[in-house]
Amino acid sequence: TVPVIIVGGGLAGCECALVLASLGIASTLVEMKPHRLSPAHHDTRLAELVCSNSLRADTPDMAVGLLKEELRALGSPLMAAADATRVPAGKALAVDRALFSDHITSRIEAEPLITLVRQEISSLEDPLLADALLAGGRVILATGPLTAETLSADLARTTGAEHLFFYDAIAPIVAMDSVNMDVAWWASRYNPEEKDYCNCPLDEAQYHAFLEALQGARVVPCREFEEEKHFEGCLPIETMAARGPLTLAHGPMKPVGLPDPRTGKEPFAVVQLRPETLDKSSCNLVGFQTKLAYPEQERVFRMIPGLEQAEFLRLGSMHRNTFVNAPAVLGPDFSLLARPGVHLAGQISGVEGYVESMGHGHLTALAVAAALAGKSLPAAPPECMLGALAVHLATPAKSFQPSNVHFGLTPALGRKAPKARRKLLYAERSRTAFARWKETLMQTE
Ligand code: FAD
Repeated sequence: TVPVIIVGGGLAGCECALVLASLGIASTLVEMKPHRLSPAHHDTRLAELVCSNSLRADTPDMAVGLLKEELRALGSPLMAAADATRVPAGKALAVDRALFSDHITSRIEAEPLITLVRQEISSLEDPLLADALLAGGRVILATGPLTAETLSADLARTTGAEHLFFYDAIAPIVAMDSVNMDVAWWASRYNPEEKDYCNCPLDEAQYHAFLEALQGARVVPCREFEEEKHFEGCLPIETMAARGPLTLAHGPMKPVGLPDPRTGKEPFAVVQLRPETLDKSSCNLVGFQTKLAYPEQERVFRMIPGLEQAEFLRLGSMHRNTFVNAPAVLGPDFSLLARPGVHLAGQISGVEGYVESMGHGHLTALAVAAALAGKSLPAAPPECMLGALAVHLATPAKSFQPSNVHFGLTPALGRKAPKARRKLLYAERSRTAFARWKETLMQTE
């Protein structure tokens, strides 16, 4: 049989190995624990949940709830483990983390089609990987956000250092139909005819009130290993604000070249929103990467004129996180364009979150299984949640950042509806598209 080597026994790697086994494909799963533990991993078991024990919402009105439904429908082994070890958590799916990891570790150890090797892989030239590739096999890197340094360095050489990142710098994303366009307007700097940005104006009093709220807001403390080293061009908005009362007005909130069409004059400051999607249905707040606690972000950013009722599809964050510039370096089967046969799965590919990493591990396993059979996996439709993750990884961005799954990654609905109804419409459309795709998968098996 053709060798398949999976590096990293975390959420994506374990899902990948078990899905391949369920398809009759043997693999070797290589995990560096217990010889080496990343700064966030503490346990020797596989599929360790490094922080919260919550896998977030489990209701179909939330994108991550739908992603769970899709994984259950595909027979995801990690979702089954989560369901079997769940603890009460209201509308969320939370698990007993020790039981969850035990469940998966025992399944993998008992699976005859999986060989578990406890070893650190330092480069793509490691004999285990190199021999597999030479034999026409596949390598799947699922080493996560805290990939060991030597392997990261090798990956940087392979992709080009400019395409491998070590920190994410995530700015919040808003749904554009929740922005008050009586206040905000579309225009590019110095070019009112080019409507690339949505602009929210602040007068001097609004600016200072916003600044005060920003500086008084609670931030999420750094974990020890995250004590950073931010790049100057990518500072958290609150760090910039602390440098001086006008730093933001001269930096990410500068108003030059953006006259307000209602007054013909430049406001005191402007927050720019940049489209996340071609149809401009969702936008990020430019330069607003932040470490503010989530509820604080909603409170403070709704002080920006035009965003009073904003629906935040994603909130901002900054973490240590190893990930590639997926749209530039990965093909549709998540393999490196520079090293065909080497696929990336999970957070290192540019998805964010436990369930997203499982989901991407599942997709990668299906893509590799198809490739081994000389076929290609039918693309998951962009309306469903697995498809949305794949679209995110394939869509070039000025500053590509990892993403949780959210409805803003899917095509716009194309009609107006109240917020609660809109979520149901997204869900309905997603389920229909997913069911059709699943049918196709079954026919091509
Ligand atoms: P991991 O689950 O990290 O698995 C990677 C595995 O690869 C690890 O077991 C590691 O030991 C192994 N490995 C690494 N390098 C090598 C090597 N060179 N050779 C062999 N093995 C190697 N997401 C959430 O949804 N909720 C949260 O609360 C949350 N908290 C997080 C907290 C921290 C500190 C971090 C860093 C991330 C957090 N995430 C969270 C984000 C992310 O979803 C998880 O990190 C998730 O575990 C990613 O899954 P993965 O399979 O890609 O990587």
